[in-house]
Amino acid sequence: MTAAVAETRVDSKGTRKVSPGPILLLGAPGVGKGTQAKELMAKWGIPQISTGDLLRYNRDHGTSLGRQAKEIMAAGKLVPDDLVNQMVAERLKQADTVAGYVLDGFPRTLNQAEWLDRHLAADPKALPVIAVSIQVGYTQLLRRITGRRSCPVCGTIYNIYLQPPKVDEKCDLDGTPLVRRSDDTEEVFRERMRTYETQTAPVVDHYRALGRFEEVNGDQPVEQVAADVMAAVARLRS
Ligand code: AMP
Repeated sequence: MTAAVAETRVDSKGTRKVSPGPILLLGAPGVGKGTQAKELMAKWGIPQISTGDLLRYNRDHGTSLGRQAKEIMAAGKLVPDDLVNQMVAERLKQADTVAGYVLDGFPRTLNQAEWLDRHLAADPKALPVIAVSIQVGYTQLLRRITGRRSCPVCGTIYNIYLQPPKVDEKCDLDGTPLVRRSDDTEEVFRERMRTYETQTAPVVDHYRALGRFEEVNGDQPVEQVAADVMAAVARLRS
């Protein structure tokens, strides 16, 4: 396994950077985990590992894993732990994870969290996971999810209620018609919230009990949430 180790690196501009190790972003669907993951990636030059993205890639490419996950994802339920853990184990072998990585959407169950802790503990050089939970109220989340659109070409994310494109349903940057994720409906959102509350709450309790957990208020401008997340990471790694 490639370990995320604590070390000081110097980037191309000569700035000294401390490797942050594995960071888990937690939060209900729509709290902005993906957006914040990108902020952390830019700051530390580490990859985002989103199990949702990896599963969608497998589903869209019709792999054996993707075929097993397809129906489950469409219903807003969780893909079995073994399948997801195996997929993550493969991803963590890649060399780009050595300085750290941002986990987005994994672990989502206590089983997955315990598996990940064991997986990292097996490598004496690996840092343990630290977890930051982003908090946003229910009604705000519903608008964020059902209004979410993205550009299939450049990946820019919009929200038709909160951050609309200049021209209806078209990307500001390249004019491409925006797309909506098939699971961003109100019905699927309610199911995903139920799933989050029942399955992921124990993950929060797990990292809180280990003293490797902080919460930040996600109902603020993106930059402020990012600053709060980074401050939390710095405290947890100090
Ligand atoms: P996301 O984009 O993270 O909201 O994930 C989309 C869907 O992929 C979820 O609703 C689940 O069906 C599935 N999924 C993503 N991550 C996991 C995980 N860690 N465990 C089980 N299922 C997952």
